[in-house]
Amino acid sequence: MATFRFRALEDVLSRQAIPVETPSSRVSDYFSSKVFDMGKMREYLSEEALNSVVDAMNNGTRIPRNVADQVASSMKEWASKLGATHYTHWFQPLTGATAEKHDSFFTPVGNGQSIERFEGENLVQQEPDASSFPSGGLRNTFEARGYTAWDPSSPAFVIGKTLCIPTIFISYTGEALDNKMPLLKALHAVDKAATRVCQYFDRNVKRVQATLGWEQEYFLVDSALYNARPDLQFAGRVLFGHNPSKGQQLDDHYFGSIPDRVHAFMRDFECEAHQLGIPVTTRHNEVAPNQFEAAPVYEEANLSNDHNLLFMDLLEKTARKHHFRLLLHEKPFAGLNGSGKHNNWSLATNTGVNLLAPGKNPKSNLQFLTFFINTIKAISDHADMLRASIASAGNDHRLGANEAPPAIISVFIGSQLSGMLDDLEKSIKAGKMTPADKTEVKLNIGKIPEILLDNTDRNRTSPFAFTGNKFEFRAVGSSANCAVPMAALNTIMAHQLTQFADAVDARIAKGLKRDEAILKELQVTITSSKKIRFEGNGYGEEWVKEAAKRGLSNVKDTPRALALLRKKEVTEIYEKYNVLSKRELEARVEIELEKYRMQIQIESRKCGDLALNHIIPTALRYQNLLIQNLQGLKDVLPKADAAKASKTQIEIVKEISERVDIIRAKVYDMIEARKKANKMDDAYKMAVAYCDKVKPFMDEIRYQSDKLELIVDDELWSMPKLRELLFTR
Ligand code: ADP
Ligand code: MG
Repeated sequence: MATFRFRALEDVLSRQAIPVETPSSRVSDYFSSKVFDMGKMREYLSEEALNSVVDAMNNGTRIPRNVADQVASSMKEWASKLGATHYTHWFQPLTGATAEKHDSFFTPVGNGQSIERFEGENLVQQEPDASSFPSGGLRNTFEARGYTAWDPSSPAFVIGKTLCIPTIFISYTGEALDNKMPLLKALHAVDKAATRVCQYFDRNVKRVQATLGWEQEYFLVDSALYNARPDLQFAGRVLFGHNPSKGQQLDDHYFGSIPDRVHAFMRDFECEAHQLGIPVTTRHNEVAPNQFEAAPVYEEANLSNDHNLLFMDLLEKTARKHHFRLLLHEKPFAGLNGSGKHNNWSLATNTGVNLLAPGKNPKSNLQFLTFFINTIKAISDHADMLRASIASAGNDHRLGANEAPPAIISVFIGSQLSGMLDDLEKSIKAGKMTPADKTEVKLNIGKIPEILLDNTDRNRTSPFAFTGNKFEFRAVGSSANCAVPMAALNTIMAHQLTQFADAVDARIAKGLKRDEAILKELQVTITSSKKIRFEGNGYGEEWVKEAAKRGLSNVKDTPRALALLRKKEVTEIYEKYNVLSKRELEARVEIELEKYRMQIQIESRKCGDLALNHIIPTALRYQNLLIQNLQGLKDVLPKADAAKASKTQIEIVKEISERVDIIRAKVYDMIEARKKANKMDDAYKMAVAYCDKVKPFMDEIRYQSDKLELIVDDELWSMPKLRELLFTR
């Protein structure tokens, strides 16, 4: 008997919300209490040390050894007060998750004596055993190990009894083995290029920071039900299960205790997040049942990304504590909304100006226009780089599934701004501009603040949308490390701004006045980036056709999206801005291809196993019941009546046999397809084979299984059904 499912359901019914206590009723009392932030540094560090750290944060200067010793000892002192006994270098290996290796402050010094030690060298550098992290062949050709190095631009924090130090992870030859290092380099590149462009408008601008505000979506399922679903456990998504039809969701009172539990979970992670300085606010605007979202106030991109990674960890741990399991997969339930992670992005100057927000006077409006138009152009020229940066097996299910942006990269700016760009394009004349032309241009630019005031024009179907004072990259998957798309975006932005400034400088050298040089270059830029602008419905079939006509690419799967990174133009840009060398990039492509293949392989194996030892046996068990029933009818009824009463059962018996046959045949065909793919010797070909030849079987098997689920006796069905996993709140 399929008691496991029912026992799990009983567990869920008996759950109680777990009480949560916050350190104080006011968040401001404990916000950032576990972070060695600026406030703590002021308190604990000498002025010399503080200045040195601030300089390292802002300008990437080296911290002298004696200062590092001082910082380390202050950090230890502070962390010990919070109960920390260990420290760890916290880093972002290419697995996509975060990693840490804990070492104790406690150091024996002989004769039964010991001291608590944490010195500059422990802070600045550490050697984790890197051999089990993916390196795409980089490490093998060089040294066997890599090391982690302190990133002073992201503050240390305490979790539990451990002082965590954000670090980059590199090989001994200096190659990046993580996601943070390329991000830092891209941020440096965009800082340089954007600061240069800002000089046209304001000489006081010395630094430009990219800002990131992420919106994290996720699903929760009860841990007992999760444990009864091997597909969720192994693949992070359900491989079987008929979707609950509308209005057929489980009775609210059946799971009446749920809302309290979810609420407690949210309070709990919010409290932890706030202590870690993550400025998060929870939202309850889930679209699918059991789907939720949390978003912080935006921060500098590197810090914000660290916070996102920490936050995902925190969600996961807190969920377990509350007997939930967190699903960060982009599409845990086919047919329901998937989960994304919108990346809200902008550029901010050290003078406190958001470069993607229009200003109060014509000059700042021109500056806004410059950054706005250059962003559109960067996306237009390098859509492939962005597409590649969000590629993952999970996101393949989401992109283009008619509730998330399509795989076609386009930019939405709203019809009014679009109209204004069209007007500008016409009014800026290629030749000498007359005073009348100039007035017209001025008038157009002057309209910007008004237009934006009324920028209610929102298009949820666009992968990259302007939302009034920032762009929102919506195609990023919920499980992604934002460092990857953020490195791509800031790199192409650095490249575009550099090209723009070169062109403007050339025009100025030829005798044009600065503003006119900028305007003329903006006009060219508007014209050459027009094809990426799209205001219509991104979900529609017509857009697919229209995009093809415009020559925009529509790369639907991960292997082919990753292959875009091997294009010469892409490699050149990553190299030119010193973000990733060709070798580093190739290593990443290889790692991601392998990750993809392994993910599909795991899914496919799980699918086969479950089909053969859950679905088919359950169906046959029910078929047996029907056969017994038919036998019984023959025994008790006159022949003619028995034949009449048997009709439905016989049909079901036949249907079960047919579907079982198909499932079994498909499972074996799928195994053959895997074997064939596994024999290939090229990572790309293998990934493509898994994508094209293995993956489709899973849908076919599921289709048959879901039909069986509808006819087999509910009591016999062994795995929790989707309506049970997706309990209403
Ligand atoms: P929504 O997209 O749901 O309508 P908002 O427009 O209020 O919500 O903002 C979404 C996110 O954008 C917030 O998390 C916020 O932190 C972030 N955000 C706002 N301004 C910026 C900015 N200048 N740079 C980066 N992110 C920003
Ligand atoms: Mg949003």
